[in-house]
Order: sequence, then structure tokens, then C-alpha cells
Amino acid sequence: MTDANLLDDTHDPARTSWVESANDPSTDFPLQNLPLGWGQARRGGPPRVLAAIGDRALDLAGVRDEGWLAGVPPEVLEALDGPWLNPLMACLPDDRRALRRALADLLGTRPPVPPQRIEVHLLPAEAVEMLVPASVGDYTDFYASVFHAERVGRLFRPDNPLLPNYKHVPIGYHGRVSSIVASPAGIVRPFGQTCPEGASGPRFGPSARLDFELEVGLLIGPGNVLGGRVPVDRAEEHAFGLCLVNDWSARDIQQWEYQPLGPFLAKSFATSVSPWVVTLEALAPFRVPAFARPPGDPAPLPYLQPGPAPGGFDVTLEARLSSQAMREQGLEPARVTRSRLANLYWTFAQMIAHHTSNGCNLRPGDLLASGTVSGPDEEARGCLLEATLGGRKPLRLPSGQVRRFLEDGDEVVLTGYCEREGFRRIGLGECRGRIQPARP
Ligand code: CA
Repeated sequence: MTDANLLDDTHDPARTSWVESANDPSTDFPLQNLPLGWGQARRGGPPRVLAAIGDRALDLAGVRDEGWLAGVPPEVLEALDGPWLNPLMACLPDDRRALRRALADLLGTRPPVPPQRIEVHLLPAEAVEMLVPASVGDYTDFYASVFHAERVGRLFRPDNPLLPNYKHVPIGYHGRVSSIVASPAGIVRPFGQTCPEGASGPRFGPSARLDFELEVGLLIGPGNVLGGRVPVDRAEEHAFGLCLVNDWSARDIQQWEYQPLGPFLAKSFATSVSPWVVTLEALAPFRVPAFARPPGDPAPLPYLQPGPAPGGFDVTLEARLSSQAMREQGLEPARVTRSRLANLYWTFAQMIAHHTSNGCNLRPGDLLASGTVSGPDEEARGCLLEATLGGRKPLRLPSGQVRRFLEDGDEVVLTGYCEREGFRRIGLGECRGRIQPARP
């Protein structure tokens, strides 16, 4: 299934770019993707709104100022000044599609002006420092994978893994915005209060059970007014695009603090995001039906009943881990997880509908993360807590080292991509972070 309403000639797999690297079959950023980001030339100058094409980044205000974005509505052209992608996110989906079409024409093999002139506005990816794409006003992290919820629930509460509300309410908590960082970033091991099993009382020190969580974030497009509810079948009109999210988690801090109000300092020390936002328009060929609830599961309440449009995204997600020793030995990062976004129990549309169901307003640039994306298979365990059964079954790395949780110097790389017969493969880029020692 695709989202037929959104398919147009920008998804035509036969189209190629005059930017050669965009035609490499392995690139995440062919002409059919055109993800957007906010970055700064390393040589200096203010941050800009950029589009990724192959191994380059196009300065959108630059090409606008040349007058090459004909047919793009004025509010979109104005939004290309930023700051961040927020003004662009506030634009209506139809208007954003006009920008996508204009960029596809400019970077396609028959551009309206000679490529040499456009090339002035293209920067090599390594010459750009990518920043967090939006000024995120609010960040909500959901818990939308029932496979993750069940496995983790069993570790924390063996007799009672899935709480009775799970299949009725998309569970979430409010995350911290100030510690959202763009990939690649160093992640300082957090200190915290823990109460290890068998200890007589809590202690304070560096976390010994640091973990990653493989997640996908949805960035909100146009917001909704305070007091107004977004119906589930119109929820995606408020969605801008997807990025990768690593919700770094200190399991020992989490275990001691999470009841009764949920995670707090176990999560708020850092969240990494991938810098390129893949738009809903680019994802149109890769839509799939929402996860089919197994027989016997309750139907969602009417306000969460999905409409006829495909609610799922067929994105394959992977997490890889490399230790410092592995990098010194020239070993490739080891894949820890492969999972599918389509296996989420709740769709992003349901998360938006639920989030606004009490009249809460979402704003352009708000971040809604999926929660750890796990699946039914052994390999689809989206964090070390699941993959090592809470540290009881360590992973063996290609270097011979073992891992229960993350050690200093470990690097986690999340990737995501979409493949479908008859369409060009696109990817979400990567979300990379390396653990740095706790500060004394
Ligand atoms: Ca999470």
C-alpha cells in the first residue's frame, strides 16, 4: 500500500539527479527523498535551511534568492529564512509539496538553469555542521511498541508485564527539550540516584546501566489551537516528517525513580536526533496499514479508531554498536537490532489524536517520539535492556568483548530506510552518539 493521494512524479524511480552522488543506489538521499535540515557552514556564517541531495546540502534561501523556486507560495519562500525549520513546518502540506516539486526540478537532470550555477549553492556534507532541525517547544515520548512494553514490563514486573491501560491509551511522558542534541554528539554518562538489588539504601554515582533506545520521532507541522481536538483521520495534516531518535536511558536510575510518575532524570540527560527530516511527502510510497491487533485485543475507543488511510510507515530500523577497541582494530560496528516501524501498536496519527484529545495544543516543531521500536523477533529488540534481558545475557562483540550495558567509548549508530518494489530506496540518515566518561 502507498498513500496514493500523495504520490506524484517526484516519486518516479526513473528520475535521476545531475548531482552524481544522489544516483548511487546506496545513498539515503536520492532525488526522491530531499529531506530538510538546519545547518551551518563550518567556515562560518549563520545557520540555513538545507535540503540533502546525495552527499551535498543545498542552501534553500540561496536558490530562492536567485528566483529559481517559481510556483512556490510566498509563505513557503519566506519560511526558508528560518529560524530552524519551524516556519516551514507551520506551512500547509499542499504548499510544502510545491517546494518539493521545485527542488526536484532544480536538482533533476533537466534543471531550469545550468547546473554550474546551482552548484554555487551546494555544500559538501562534510563542510556543514547539522544542528537540531527544529526549535522544539515540547517533546513527548510515547511507548507505542507493545513488544517493547511487554518485554520491559516482564523485567520490571514479572507477574504483571503489560498494565491494563496499555491497549486502550497511547502511553507517553513529557521529555526534556534542553538536552536534545543533533547527531553526532558525545553523551556524558549521567550521575544519579540508584538503589541496586540487595543494597540497604540508595547511593549516588555514575550510572552503571546506560542504554540506548531505537526510536523514530515525528515533527509536528501546522499546530492546533488550544482547546481544539485533532480527529484521528485528519491527524497527519499536522505532521511534517520523521527523524531518528535515540532516547538515551539510565536503567538503574530509572528503576529506582520511575514509580509513581514515570521516567525523569533517567532520560532527561540527553536525547539524540538525526538532523535530516524526511518529509511525509517523501514517505508516501512507503505507507502500510496500521499494525493489525491480534484477535481478542480490545478495539480502540472511537476517537482513536484509525480512518481508511494507511497509518503505518514501512521503515526498517537498525542499531549498531562499536566499542573503542573495535574501532582501533578496524572492526565494523556490530548490528544489535533490526526492527520495523510498522510494528508499532499505535500509529503516529493515533498519538496526535490522543495528545490533543484533551484540548492540548501541539505547535510546529514539537517532537513526538515513538518509544523504543521493537518487534516480535529476537533481532527486533530496540534497546540493550531487552537484548541482554536486563544484563543477564550479555552480547558478545566481534572484538570478543561483552556488553550488558554501554561502556565509555561505545558508539551507537541508528539508521532507518524504506524500500519498496517500484520505488527508489530512501533513508533517514543516521543518529550517532558516543558515550563519554562521567564528569568527576
Ligand atoms: Ca523512550
